[in-house]
Amino acid sequence: MRKFEDSYRHKGLRKKLVEVLRQKGITDERVLEAITNIPRHFFLDSAFDEVAYEDRAFPIAQQQTISQPYTVAYQSQLLLVKPYEKILEVGTGSAYQASVLAELGAQVYTIERQKKLFDNNKQFSFLKKYSNIKFFYGDGYEGLPTYAPFDKVLVTAAAPFIPEKLRGQLKIGGQMVIPVGEGKVQRMLRITRKTADKFEEEEFENFSFVPMLGGKNN
Ligand code: SAH
Repeated sequence: MRKFEDSYRHKGLRKKLVEVLRQKGITDERVLEAITNIPRHFFLDSAFDEVAYEDRAFPIAQQQTISQPYTVAYQSQLLLVKPYEKILEVGTGSAYQASVLAELGAQVYTIERQKKLFDNNKQFSFLKKYSNIKFFYGDGYEGLPTYAPFDKVLVTAAAPFIPEKLRGQLKIGGQMVIPVGEGKVQRMLRITRKTADKFEEEEFENFSFVPMLGGKNN
């Protein structure tokens, strides 16, 4: 069961969370404002209501997780989102990260390989306020060729390598933020498409994501 009541207490906890994120080095005011605006506890089972604003990842359905707020803020900041940009997100999960991108004014295309998680989001009434999010059920390794090219691509699962098709769906000048690594720890990368076949790579901190798996799951 989930609860959809946003009390003063929840709002207060959210402000404290934002202060924690500032202390950890998040500086993008628009990202911090998005996190201030979104009731993260709506995205979790009400069993987690008391802890929803701790800077931690939590389990959602299908052995998946809602990313830690710091991770969401970090990836959102690296993506340098501008209003109206077309963004592909791989790994919808709870749709919390997609909501942050929507609050930043992007046109969000988000894809999830787990049918149950995709279906849950269709039932999740809070998301109706974001007419700028489109939900897809499919394999993120394929991207969304019909809607490509994208200004930005954000991968929120651990990729063993940089998926070729996702790189190919970036506009020239477009950027992808993706955690890459085969073990427990991944390195956050930002890839910029300089020309049709020239890509620049920047390396950032280490993180630990659930794996990006191939194919779809019923
Ligand atoms: N962005 C999410 C984080 C979810 S964790 C949030 O804000 O809650 C990563 C998600 O990626 C999981 O839901 C997992 O099922 C999904 N995933 C893993 N491999 C995928 C793939 N190849 N295509 C699409 N989604 C994938």
